[in-house]
Amino acid sequence: MRTREQYIERLGKMNCNLYSNGEKIDRLDERQEGAINVMSLTFDAAWDPASKDLCTATSHLTGETINRFNHIHQNVEDLHKKQDMTRYLCNKVGQCIQRCMGIDAANALNAVSFEAQKSPQAKTAYYDNWLKWLERFQTEDLVASCAQTDVKGERLKRPSEQTDPDMYVRVVEERSDGIVVRGSKVHISEASISDEILVVPNRALRKGEEAYAVCFAVPSDYEGIKQVVHYHNSRKRDHFDKGNHFGYSDSYVIFDDCFIPWDRVFLCGETIHGGLSALLFALFHRHSYSGCKPATLDFVIGLAGLAAEINGIEKAPHVRELLSKLIMTGELGYAAGYTASALGKPEVFMPGMGFVPYGPGSYIPHSIYANVGRCLTGEAVFHEQEILCNIAGGLPATFPYEKDLANPETRALLEKYINRNPRMPIEDQIRFWLTFVDFGLSGSAGSMTYGAYHGGGSPIMEQIAITSQYDIESKKDLVRNLAGMSPRKK
Ligand SMILES: Cc1cc2nc3c(=O)[nH]c(=O)nc-3n(C[C@H](O)[C@H](O)[C@H](O)COP(=O)(O)OP(=O)(O)OC[C@H]3O[C@@H](n4cnc5c(N)ncnc54)[C@H](O)[C@@H]3O)c2cc1C
Repeated sequence: MRTREQYIERLGKMNCNLYSNGEKIDRLDERQEGAINVMSLTFDAAWDPASKDLCTATSHLTGETINRFNHIHQNVEDLHKKQDMTRYLCNKVGQCIQRCMGIDAANALNAVSFEAQKSPQAKTAYYDNWLKWLERFQTEDLVASCAQTDVKGERLKRPSEQTDPDMYVRVVEERSDGIVVRGSKVHISEASISDEILVVPNRALRKGEEAYAVCFAVPSDYEGIKQVVHYHNSRKRDHFDKGNHFGYSDSYVIFDDCFIPWDRVFLCGETIHGGLSALLFALFHRHSYSGCKPATLDFVIGLAGLAAEINGIEKAPHVRELLSKLIMTGELGYAAGYTASALGKPEVFMPGMGFVPYGPGSYIPHSIYANVGRCLTGEAVFHEQEILCNIAGGLPATFPYEKDLANPETRALLEKYINRNPRMPIEDQIRFWLTFVDFGLSGSAGSMTYGAYHGGGSPIMEQIAITSQYDIESKKDLVRNLAGMSPRKK
């Protein structure tokens, strides 16, 4: 396993293919610092005696101790631990821990490449290639991001119907030594601070769309890739330092006729498995949300509770009702993820067939519960901001700048007029509101809320998964029976 220092040292040696705000930048550019600080916590936690058990696992390939973010779930316990590790680490940042895309894509590809290799049309030994990549991923303790979201062009058209065929990443050439891919994946979290990028399709695919059924891995600084990066960093503090500086990055990952050697290809042309890889990454990722969303709610509950305490309204009936809403959403999201773990099996839902065995025996969370939890908590994020706004009042929207709070000419006056609670030191109140502003009203807050709503799939995607997999007919039978109606015609 690596340390944070080893992780950062490797980033410093990577090629320069990041573009931001008109500049070409390297991986240790100041803008990357917040995101690197977040990712580094995943290395610290694997060494920390307090979290070692939760944040490490035993590799089923080598028997070595590895970072849990690089593990393939071998049983129900692993699914529980992934959810709990995610909540534990997100609590350390108050938001996303950003390494889950790698573990979620790895678990999806582990199952998909195994099944796809059985296909008589398989272009290469997908699962053998996968195992070779996975062993390196685990032993070198690499960070992977997952590039699933295509630009998608005209929303109501399928990949093969688009005016521009490059709206979904596709294979433009097959060679004896590999494939050439073209297209762009967008909003790819932490691609700029990852060692590797795992690429999977975005949607179910049909005959004629073989070129879009492609899964592979590339180094994130690979020739043929350009990353255009957007940063969501919290404001740095000069006077009221928090002791941490966290941030996030998301990239447009552009494959400009990029050559991928066969040994990095895990699927190429099998449309059924292309669709399943899209579905499985989304499923594992929605399960991760049952760890990170409750953790974010832990932070939001703390913000709401302290805002109420500072405002002296914590016993007001409407505040108790609002706090209970936050608690219910977070803990129901957690409970849904817990159930998804407890009912996990090496099985996947196939339309018309129900749950069938899939993959080499690695565990997959139950899809109804993973989708229910993600949808419930994802849809709630703007309401959470509304609750914070309600309890805080207008103060965070016009809170003085840090330099005015420190300026000897204005400091004492501002401290006098900001103070709402004589039982709490004014310096603590100021630190609290600055943090509140970072979370809800800063430049990065909007992007983070959009990410919490759409990341892992917009609510409509979960609703489609839920209603297409849930046995609604059996519920209608239940009513038919109780109402004395005639039975369903089979
Ligand atoms: C901060 C952030 C981080 C992210 N990180 C990652 C990441 O690491 N990796 C990754 O792969 N993705 C990532 N995503 C992408 C995320 O998964 C997508 O935003 C999400 O799946 C929605 O896709 P979209 O943004 O293209 O929205 P759209 O699909 O354009 O949705 C816009 C609206 O159009 C509707 N719509 C779209 N298609 C149809 C249709 N066919 N019929 C009817 N209505 C339709 C939607 O329901 C929605 O109402 C991230 C997103 C954000 C914001």
